[in-house]
Order: sequence, then C-alpha cells, then structure tokens
Amino acid sequence: MSRLPAGVMREATIDVGAITANVRHLRRLTSSEVIAVVKADGYGHGAVRSANAAIEGGAARIGVADVAEALALRRGGVTAPVLAWLHAPGASFAEAAAAHVELGVSSFDQLVAAAAAASADRPVGVHLKLETGLGRNGIAPADYRMVLAEAARLERIGKLKVVGIFSHLSNSSPDEDRAQLRAFQDGLGVAATLGLAPPLRHLAATAAAIDLPETRLGCVRLGIGIYGLSPFDGRSSADLGLRPAMTLRAAVAAVRRVGPGHGVSYGFDHRTERETTLALVPLGYADGVPRQASGLGPVVIGGQRFRVAGRVAMDQIVVDVGDHPVGVGDETVLFGDPTLGAPAASEWADAAGTIDYEIVTRIGPRVPRRQVSA
Ligand SMILES: *Cc1c(COP(=O)(O)O)cnc(C)c1O
Repeated sequence: MSRLPAGVMREATIDVGAITANVRHLRRLTSSEVIAVVKADGYGHGAVRSANAAIEGGAARIGVADVAEALALRRGGVTAPVLAWLHAPGASFAEAAAAHVELGVSSFDQLVAAAAAASADRPVGVHLKLETGLGRNGIAPADYRMVLAEAARLERIGKLKVVGIFSHLSNSSPDEDRAQLRAFQDGLGVAATLGLAPPLRHLAATAAAIDLPETRLGCVRLGIGIYGLSPFDGRSSADLGLRPAMTLRAAVAAVRRVGPGHGVSYGFDHRTERETTLALVPLGYADGVPRQASGLGPVVIGGQRFRVAGRVAMDQIVVDVGDHPVGVGDETVLFGDPTLGAPAASEWADAAGTIDYEIVTRIGPRVPRRQVSA
C-alpha cells in the first residue's frame, strides 16, 4: 500500500510513460502514422502532457475537437502539426491560421472561411471531412464534387493546402464500418478525379485501428487507446497490450466504528449489517465519481476490494470495510491499472451505465493531476 503525498487529499496520477508506451505499441500494431487525439484536456489526463507523451511514443500529429484546444496546445509549447475539426458557426480561422493549426473542414462555408484566413505567403492546411454515414458533421455525399472542386481550386491558387481527407466510423459492426469505408473510398475517388492528392487519408479511431486493418489507410486517429483504455466491451486494457495511464485515488479522511443498523450517506440506502468500520473517502460527484454508481462502484483500500456504501455525495463516498484494519490516511484507489491491483475504469463505467471514456474525461478540475512515469 502506498500513501498519498503529505497534505494531498485526492489526486489523479498520470503515467506519461504509459501514454508513450501505448502509442508505440499501437503504432507498431497498425503500421500507421498516428494522430494522437487529446481533446477534452486529453480525456482528462492533461492535453499538453498527453500530446508530449504521445509525440515521444512516435505520434506524428495531434488531433483536438476545437480550435481553442489547439491554441492551448500551441501556448503549451506543442509544435507538432495539430488538427481541429469542430467549429462554431461563422467562426473566423485567423488565429488558427496564425498558429499553424490545421482545420477539419465539413462544409463549403468552412472551406471559404479557411481560405479567407490564408496569408499572402502561406496557405492554410485543411483536412476535408466526408460524411460517410455517422450522421454527424462532414461534407454530404451529394456535395462531395462541388466542395472538393472548390478545395482543389483554392489549393491551386495557394490559399489552401489539402493535407488530408478523413471521416469517422460508427463502430456499430464490422459490416457497417466497411460500408462507411466504401463510401469513403468513393469520396477519395471523386477527390482524385479533381486533382486532389492529399498526403493523408484517415478514417479509423482506436477501435477500428485495432480490429479492422483495412480501415487503417496508413494513418489512424487514436484517442482512448493512447490513455491505455479499451474501446471494446469485454476486452481489457491488458488484452490489448495497453497500460491505463490514470489512477484516481484519495486518502481516507476519517474512520468511524459503528454498530449494526447504522445508516450510511443520504437516504440511508446502505445500513450496516453488524458492527463495522466506515471509511470516509474524499471524492464525490463534483470530482467526476458518477452518482449512478452509488452502492456499486469498486474501491481498493489496503489491497482489499470493497464497494461504495450508499450514495455518492458531492464531495465524498463512504466505504463499509467491516473489520479490515483501515486508518486515516490510507490509500483508496477508485481505478487505475488492474494488473497492479486497482479496479478498472471500465468497472466504474459498468456500474454507472456508461463507458470508460466518460469516467476518465469527467474527472473534475478539483482533482489535482500529478504526472508520474513508471
Ligand atoms: C474523439 C475522436 C477520435 C478518437 O476516438 P477514440 O475512440 O477515442 O480513439 C477520433 N476521431 C474523431 C473525429 C473523434 O471525434
């Protein structure tokens, strides 16, 4: 059992060495260029540190959702190519262009706005996003020819550099994903007839990059996998050769010996069955511990596994540890690397009816991140 640093009540440790190793592993597995996705503050792990760790592992490029996230990476010293693909209506791309941020372009209007941000001596890098069936953004199939023709023209006159063409899969089934791949290839065919020959084509995120080799296309956008988590039900991180990078833990803040029938937390959903010890753990839904996992979420204290007793509150949970010797300051691990004895983030996801992506991404700003490298 390890203790938290003195004075630290709760923390998420981020093993940047795990991120580096995960990228290295997935790059070898896919034999593809990696765009490391660090949107939403690196899925809660910290965007700049995640980007740097991914680059260390061989990622050539970084992907984020918003331009604001891309600019934050630049301010944090990330110089690798950065792509941002989700934009406000009517957004101006001047700041993005000045920071050499590449833009995902999903419509004619975005294409025009990207070209308008070009300076006399430098085109704006764009990745044209094709809608191939997911039902989110992207150029509609009926508009491929018109929008791609304009992109080719803007490239010829030096306003744009078409760095990539991309789309995003639904992961509904291999057949559905293959249908999207065919639609994507139709779009690439249209691009080729219009004289567009971008260096990159990218379709697969983590799940398809691992499971559907024909979608790799020499470049993959990897999010969840670089953080060491599994995009698949029923397959663990270790099954995929990945190491979870985030460990969420807290120091027991108080212990109380109580008799049988003692109510625990709001609503008394849990009552003690016999004389027992209650341990108070200072992590709650304000910190991203899902309230839906009340009574179910797993924790490990002193190498022993328990479940949250009763409701998850805003700032704290209670664990009914029986006669197990637990003291103030003892380490309580909510999730981390199961090969090191921690519960998996996916167990919290199952308990809360969600996915491991949401568990790590929602860890709140009140939880200090501490970078480590195992
Ligand atoms: C979030 C996202 C990714 C990364 O997906 P993972 O499943 O986390 O690998 C890739 N591409 C796009 C467009 C995304 O929005």
